[in-house]
Amino acid sequence: MQLLRLLVALAVVLFSVVVIAAEDYYKVLGLAKSASEKDIKRAYRTLSKKYHPDKNPGDDTAREKFVEIADAYDVLSTSTLRKIYDQYGHDGVEQHRKGQAAGGSHDPFDLFSRFFGGGGHSGHAPGHRRGPDMEVRASLPLRDFYTGREINFLVEKQQICDSCEGTGSKDRHVETCDRCAGRGVVLQKHMLAPGMFQQVQMQCDRCHGQGKKIKNPCPVCAGSRVVKNQVETSAVIEPGMGKGTRLVFENEADESPDWIAGDLIVILDEKEAELGRSAEERTDGTFFRRKGKDLFWKETLSLREAWMGDWTRNLTHLDGHVVHLGRRRGEVVQPLAVETVSGEGMPHYSEGHLHDHHEDDGSAGNLYIEYTVVLPDQMESGMEKDFHALWEKWRKKIGVDLAKDSGRPVAPPPAEGKDEL
Ligand SMILES: [Zn+2]
Ligand SMILES: [Zn+2]
Repeated sequence: MQLLRLLVALAVVLFSVVVIAAEDYYKVLGLAKSASEKDIKRAYRTLSKKYHPDKNPGDDTAREKFVEIADAYDVLSTSTLRKIYDQYGHDGVEQHRKGQAAGGSHDPFDLFSRFFGGGGHSGHAPGHRRGPDMEVRASLPLRDFYTGREINFLVEKQQICDSCEGTGSKDRHVETCDRCAGRGVVLQKHMLAPGMFQQVQMQCDRCHGQGKKIKNPCPVCAGSRVVKNQVETSAVIEPGMGKGTRLVFENEADESPDWIAGDLIVILDEKEAELGRSAEERTDGTFFRRKGKDLFWKETLSLREAWMGDWTRNLTHLDGHVVHLGRRRGEVVQPLAVETVSGEGMPHYSEGHLHDHHEDDGSAGNLYIEYTVVLPDQMESGMEKDFHALWEKWRKKIGVDLAKDSGRPVAPPPAEGKDEL
C-alpha cells in the first residue's frame, strides 16, 4: 500500500498534465465525502436512470452527464480507487489506471446493464425483454389527500445482487458451459419405437439453460444473481390527488440480469375514516366524505335552531382551519337543505398536460353541508302544555292549507277554513 501511494504520488508529479477540470465525483452523485457504499449505489441507481440517453434522446448534456455519473460511480464504488481519489483527485485515478495494464472497460452502458440488466438500455429501448410491472397499494386517510405529504414505505422486491453485480459468481468470473457451449440447450436422441429416433432439444442440465458456468457461487445470492430486499420507497402525495391515483416509478419493479425492470406502480387508496387519538386527528374533517373534488358533511340542528335561527357552528377542516356556519335569528333552515361553502372542498390538483382543460377550471372543490333537523322526542309536561296552547292560538289565526300550499294539481275536497300550522 505504501509503495502504491508512493508510486501514485510520483506519477502525479511526473505526469501532471493540464486536464479539463473534471467535476468532483461526490458532487456528480450528489453525495458528501462521508457517503457509505450504499449511498453511492443508491445515488447511481437513481441518477443513471434519470440521465440515460434512451430517456433523453438528442440531449447531449444528459449524455455527458450519464457518462460522468458512470465514471464517478466506477471510481467511488471501488475502494482502492476511492482512496486514491480522496487523496490525489482525478489525476491520481488517471495515473493509477494508466499504471494498470489493460484495465477493465469503462463503458458506461456496461456498468448500467450490470446494475439493471438488459444490455445498458433503459426501459423504453426496443428489443429487450422487460420484467413484469409491480403494483403496491397505499392506504391513506383523507387528510393526506387534502394536505399532501411524502409517504415512506417498504416494498419487497427482487434486486440484482450487489455483491456479485448480478454475475452469481463470487469472483465475478463466469465461464461458458462446456456441455452446451453456451447455448443453454442440448440435442438428445429420443427413441420413439425400435429403430426410430427423434432428436429433441432439451434444456442443458448442467447449466440449467443459462449457458454459463460458475466455479465459485456468490455467497450472498448463492449464485442466483438476485436477492430479495425490503426497499425503502418514498412517494409524494400532492394536495388534491384523487383516490385510485397511480404513481408510476419507472423501472423500479423486480430486477433481474435477464430483463429490464418493469415499473413499480403505487396505487393510492382512501382509508376508512376512524376516530383519531391525537388532537390533530380529531377534526370534524376526518369524517368528511369525498366525491371527486367536493367534500360533504352532515350537520345536525335542533328544531329550535332550524326554525328560529340564531346559532353558530365551528367546523374544523382537515388541516385544522375553521369553517364558520351559522344563521341569524329568524333565518330558517329546512330539513335536508344543502348549503354550499364554495372553495372549501379538496384543493385543486391537475396532472398537467394529461388533463383536459375543459373540465378543469383550476379551482378548489366545494364543501356541501347537508342539514339534518332533530325534533325533541320528549318534553316536560309544562313545556308540552305551553307549546300546545301556543299552536292552538296561532293555527286559528294564520294556519295555512297544506294541500294548497304544496302546489299539487289536485284540489279535492274543498278545504274548510284553516287547517294546519
Ligand atoms: Zn450448459
Ligand atoms: Zn451474488
